[in-house]
Amino acid sequence: MLTIDVYTSDYKPIAVTPPGWGGRQATWPASTATLIHGREEAALVDALITREEAERLTEWIRAKGKTVTTVYVTHGHADHFLGLSVVLDAFPDAVAVALPEVVPYAEEQLSAPVLSFWESLFPGQLPTRTVAPQPLAGEVITVDGYELRPVPVGQSDTHPSSVLHVPALDAVIGGDVAYDGIHMWLADTDHEARMQWLKALDIVAALNPRIVVSGHRDPAAPDYDAARVLAASRRYLQDFVEAVAAARDAEEIITAMNSAHRDRGNPYTLLASATAQLPGPA
Ligand SMILES: [Zn+2]
Repeated sequence: MLTIDVYTSDYKPIAVTPPGWGGRQATWPASTATLIHGREEAALVDALITREEAERLTEWIRAKGKTVTTVYVTHGHADHFLGLSVVLDAFPDAVAVALPEVVPYAEEQLSAPVLSFWESLFPGQLPTRTVAPQPLAGEVITVDGYELRPVPVGQSDTHPSSVLHVPALDAVIGGDVAYDGIHMWLADTDHEARMQWLKALDIVAALNPRIVVSGHRDPAAPDYDAARVLAASRRYLQDFVEAVAAARDAEEIITAMNSAHRDRGNPYTLLASATAQLPGPA
């Protein structure tokens, strides 16, 4: 039988103070890496970003005594795969893969200008070696003979995005399609992209999962209940669409979103999402 274990890396301070954020400490959202393992083999989904958290992740995997054969990268954002080199150093026989359409976006994140952006957020904390995932050959990843199926979903907080379906466990490892207890990154979306993101949630729901693991998950989230996680993500997107339509500036978007979503983690994300739509506080 397969087992799923989730490693959650907590909110991390970022070294820049975004405009409008005042003197407060801005953070990066808590992020997950998910291990799907059988008696001997294991597949890891996403690999975090800083050297230290990737090292902790590999120690956590080692303690389970499994051999990582595959690392699957759900989408091209570096905060989900810059830790790859650390993981591959620890498990040199593992292959890192992503959907072929995701790979160019991951490679672009490793270009000098984009890497220097990430370095500005986490100075001195990133792994010195960077690795991009390879295009997945074929349609499945296997762990001890069980099939794991990458499913392209189009839009999440970036495009293209995917999830990993684990039919044997009725589970979906969701990348950034669903967020759990954390403000959703909408800074790179317009209205049309948000409509497409809602359709991505439909694609996940159509897999009838019992379990959904979010790429960004509050460490205190109660469970991995698919119905709860999907409904909350859908509601957040719909509320954001309505808030943007009704607001005159970013502050009004933030106020409207906080009326229903104040308890979500990483409030800086909401500022970034709102100021990308309408003028905000300087
Ligand atoms: Zn992310």
